[in-house]
Amino acid sequence: THFGFKTVAKEDKQKMVAEVFHSVAAKYDLMNDLMSFGIHRVWKRFTIDCSGVRKGQKVLDLAGGTGDFTAKFSRLVGESGEVVLADINDSMLRVGREKLRNLGVVSNVNYVQANAESLPFPDNTFDCIVISFGLRNVTDKDKALRSMYRVLKPGGRLLVLEFSKPIIEPLSKIYDFYSFNILPKIGEVVVNDADSYRYLSESIRMHPAQPVLKEMMTEAGFEQVSYYNLTAGIVALHRGYKF
Ligand code: SAM
Repeated sequence: THFGFKTVAKEDKQKMVAEVFHSVAAKYDLMNDLMSFGIHRVWKRFTIDCSGVRKGQKVLDLAGGTGDFTAKFSRLVGESGEVVLADINDSMLRVGREKLRNLGVVSNVNYVQANAESLPFPDNTFDCIVISFGLRNVTDKDKALRSMYRVLKPGGRLLVLEFSKPIIEPLSKIYDFYSFNILPKIGEVVVNDADSYRYLSESIRMHPAQPVLKEMMTEAGFEQVSYYNLTAGIVALHRGYKF
């Protein structure tokens, strides 16, 4: 298959995203480290520091994949808290569950297969939702943001960590070259699947820029929405509150 992302119909996107993550699940963590030179760990650390999550709280790691955030939040919320790792893809969930079990993260974590567009939780459930490198894969982002807003408790916050628009022009060029020429090659060597990484590069390029995503979050009901550029805007962390 060739993932001609720009030419596919919207309803096919979900199927394509599913194929991509079934294909990369087993080597997902390794690929993350290789592709970002390990820097994704720093972006995730910063996100945790901005989360304000405390003992006893309830956190949703949405599109959580192999559960990097779940592991960290599980320690933060302690036995009296709860973390839900939700993902649409059962291959990613399986790899995540196995990894977390091996890390000894068990008692306060639950796993749910769910689509971000229609979250299967009651209103006002979570103190914090994090969606990390997940939103750009969602077909209807506005619908997903509204769904997240609904399941957040009043006073709760949403953190969106996602690839964004580099704020320095030369960097932007280097980055484009890296995404479209180097990344698919790494994908070919490590998971024998260049197409999946071509899809990822295209989805990164098409993802809304910082101010646009901020506007989308505000539209969905979030208040005091702000963002931080990380690594010169290659990645941005958006945060918004439900009051
Ligand atoms: N959050 C993890 C991280 O930061 O390493 C995993 C990110 S991974 C790049 C993207 C994840 O989003 C995949 O596990 C994929 O299955 C999931 N995903 C894609 N579309 C989704 C949807 N509509 N609802 C929930 N999860 C989705």
